[in-house]
Amino acid sequence: MKKEDIIALPNPHLRTKSTKVHVITDDTIKLIEDMTAASIDWEDSRPHEISAALAAVQVDHLERVVIIRSDFDDKSARDFTPLINPEIVKYEGEVVSDYEGCLSVSGVYGKVPRHTKVRVKALDLEGNEVRFKAEGFLARVIQHEIDHTNGIVFIDHLQDQTDAFFTLDEKGELQPLNYDEHIRENSILWD
Ligand code: ZN
Repeated sequence: MKKEDIIALPNPHLRTKSTKVHVITDDTIKLIEDMTAASIDWEDSRPHEISAALAAVQVDHLERVVIIRSDFDDKSARDFTPLINPEIVKYEGEVVSDYEGCLSVSGVYGKVPRHTKVRVKALDLEGNEVRFKAEGFLARVIQHEIDHTNGIVFIDHLQDQTDAFFTLDEKGELQPLNYDEHIRENSILWD
């Protein structure tokens, strides 16, 4: 798959709940390979951004499968960990707002409130249950991706928040977006 296979708002599938994976098959493995290829292709087209993670719905496949980059700091390390049927078992820590972007929301970043720590349950590719604790940026990424499996996009947490929206300038720096001008009535972003 290529970056063109990644769907973006206003595609209504991004606001649709994905279904559980009941049996992990060769199709699941192929899906994960396709998602990884699309993420890397997208990243190759972006000078200032990394592809931190992707949910299957973003390649228009409505199953609860996500891939999470194994190393967020190294652009050359392009290994992704798949999580099948991921869910948050417990929210911990405090709620902190920080910047998020999304491969399916082009040109818009937001300061999204998320828990700093979560406990996660998922299946690995062999179908074994895995449980782990995540904190910091990883916790944020996992909350963002599990939202995708539930048909929630990060901007949905920011409705009516006039100072929460940003865009990247050509130098790769975040600049505030005028809410009234670019966000409030933007029919691409909202249903
Ligand atoms: Zn996203």
